[in-house]
Amino acid sequence: MKTYQTRAIGTDAPSKPLTERNIPRRDLLPHDVQIEILYCGICHSDLHVVKNDWGGTTYPVVPGHEIVGRVTKVGGEVGKFKVGEVAAIGCIVDSCRSCEYCRSGEEQYCENGWSVVFNSPDKHLGGMSYGGFSKSIVADENYVLRIPELLDPASAAPILCAGITVYSPLKHWKAGPGKKVGVLGMGGLGHMAIKIAAAMGAEVTVFTTSSAKAADAKRLGASKVVVSTDEQQMVGCAKQDLIVDTVSAEHDANAYLKLLKVDGSLVLVGLPVKPLEVGAFNIVGGRKSLSGSNIGGIAETQEVLDFCAHHKIAAEIELLPAGRVNEAMERLEKGDVRYRFVLDMTRL
Ligand code: NAP
Ligand code: ZN
Ligand code: ZN
Repeated sequence: MKTYQTRAIGTDAPSKPLTERNIPRRDLLPHDVQIEILYCGICHSDLHVVKNDWGGTTYPVVPGHEIVGRVTKVGGEVGKFKVGEVAAIGCIVDSCRSCEYCRSGEEQYCENGWSVVFNSPDKHLGGMSYGGFSKSIVADENYVLRIPELLDPASAAPILCAGITVYSPLKHWKAGPGKKVGVLGMGGLGHMAIKIAAAMGAEVTVFTTSSAKAADAKRLGASKVVVSTDEQQMVGCAKQDLIVDTVSAEHDANAYLKLLKVDGSLVLVGLPVKPLEVGAFNIVGGRKSLSGSNIGGIAETQEVLDFCAHHKIAAEIELLPAGRVNEAMERLEKGDVRYRFVLDMTRL
């Protein structure tokens, strides 16, 4: 298959900094869209993969799965996009399209294995896929999203992962008026969860380890902020219907299971390396659930983009030139981000 070269930023080992390099992209197939990447968000999953936290990273790795750019070329059979339009790509770039979950728009649960935009087998070129820390990308139009005109392309980028990852469980567990929703961890995912749950009409309580984030949490739509290290504050916010757990590191899930009402759910979206310990009494007592949720399907990703445009929601971002990626990764690792880094890929 014919390819072309594009500039990218990646690394060859967990301990090495990210550096510029050339990577191949496929020449367009009839249903492919080529996008010049303008902005790419940095998700903690990019950091987990770069550091090989979960195992399974194949180096060299080019991260990035919150991609917004401009369509530069379309294949002969593409009907959905035109050259010059703003378009986006998230985590999912392909799936089997025929299993029960693909047919119901939940490609993230594809029974035959969906293709992730980075560090996933590349069905066309062999080897592994390379993500959005690059100048140009090619994907099938079915997996490319529209960015509504009302959204600013840079601050919309984090909706492609952080936004959809919290929107999907909030919708599935019916966050809305009359529901108490807890958001655990106020980082990239957590701050979007506050905005989206508040826009859905839920009463939002934020659980954070950073008391300095309290004022921002209120500004973004939380009615209550709890510093999770303070037991007194924790006791005062029981009877949550749903708690979305976005924490990226080891923490005590039991403390939050205790805060759920009968039939309440603690939903993990964060992916810490170490398994959580759960006391049976903390779920048996109130018929409580501990569950998880993985990003969201393509249709639902378009839905959250449209929802955010409608409710004038975008991520709070710190926009950095692509060349400052290592500084951004180091600060993300330290928790020093308010609340999502986005790389300006035009400056690569
Ligand atoms: P992030 O911006 O680094 O935010 C994580 C937040 O967790 C931090 O801001 C901090 O919030 C809290 N935290 C960190 N370390 C903690 C600790 N030791 N104890 C308690 N709280 C701690 O990360 P993100 O990009 O939002 O991603 C969060 C997690 O979700 C990552 O594990 C990522 O891989 C995962 N993820 C999963 C999916 C999915 O589909 N399920 C999709 C995207 C990302 P406070 O300062 O408020 O305490
Ligand atoms: Zn992500
Ligand atoms: Zn499938």
